[in-house]
Amino acid sequence: MRVAVINSGSSSIKFKLFEMPTKEVLSSKLLERVKSHHDGLVEIFADVGEVDAIVHRVVHGGEDFHSTTLIDDEVIEKIENLIPLAPLHNPANLEGIKIAKEMFKTTPQFAVFDTAFHNSIKKEGYIYPLSLEMYEKHKIRRYGFHGSSHSYVAKEGAKMLAKDLSELNLITLHLGNGASACAIKNGKSIDTSMGFTPLEGLVMGSRCGDIDPAIVLYMQRELGLSVDEVDMELNKHSGLLGLCGNNDVREIIDADDEKSNLAIDVMVRRIQKYIGSYMVLLEDVDAIIFTGGIGENSAYIRDRVMDNKILKEIKHLVIKTDEELEMAQECYKMVVR
Ligand code: AMP
Repeated sequence: MRVAVINSGSSSIKFKLFEMPTKEVLSSKLLERVKSHHDGLVEIFADVGEVDAIVHRVVHGGEDFHSTTLIDDEVIEKIENLIPLAPLHNPANLEGIKIAKEMFKTTPQFAVFDTAFHNSIKKEGYIYPLSLEMYEKHKIRRYGFHGSSHSYVAKEGAKMLAKDLSELNLITLHLGNGASACAIKNGKSIDTSMGFTPLEGLVMGSRCGDIDPAIVLYMQRELGLSVDEVDMELNKHSGLLGLCGNNDVREIIDADDEKSNLAIDVMVRRIQKYIGSYMVLLEDVDAIIFTGGIGENSAYIRDRVMDNKILKEIKHLVIKTDEELEMAQECYKMVVR
């Protein structure tokens, strides 16, 4: 069965065609800085040939979607209604869905949601201690992201440990330009560091992760920054980039100057704080899994994170993530069941 995986992002479109269940990659394409999603997808599909199913990445599934879903008009409408929760991502994901639907009218199409893996988080884990109305009326809560990646590396980790995933407690660390940690108990997500948006949690390439929310108010009241300027500051000018002027961890490590070293120290300390809190929530941890560009490739960062009396006792694994394969597998499961 030929499964096309589409990750239609705000400025890029990633495409992979898999033969399933053998997992063979038949073709792949990456279009960057796309001006028109329509032209991009037409280009991608021009020489693809026959496709049996298409699976789309959708960043925000809100509370509506708990698993991989067959796309119909009602599903499209619900994803549209979720745009306020992910104003940059969901519209681009929807573009991909709508164009593929036009081009492949009879091919079944599925949506895999970044948030879905975290649907197992209990209410005490996803509620923010704001007035309850903020959740009940406005749906402000932790959703969590990077679900396909955390899910994929957890499954691969179980294979490496030769155990059933349902018997394992894991801490998965997706450390890339975007970064998140996940506490996995008996194979299910029980907490994750990204929250209402992908801004919360770890120190990222250009995102700050956790900060005192009053800083946002201070920036507006005292520094006179507009809402959009604060948004830019926190999402684009913070994190490693904000601290040392660079978001490429390789170059930051090589630079070895005061600012670069501080940026790494801040990032590592934040990762350790999350691991520590997840160890307490999980009580027993079978392994810590590193993935993402930094987690997979930087032995230096892994060593820095694990260089701790408590963490030294815990097994750690390095697993290359494959969100597209995870999506293809999800899609295959849906078609053959
Ligand atoms: P991703 O968003 O998953 O593609 O990850 C991008 C991040 O991975 C960037 O910060 C890169 O600097 C980092 N990265 C990739 N290769 C290495 C490496 N060999 N050592 C350190 N960081 C790396």
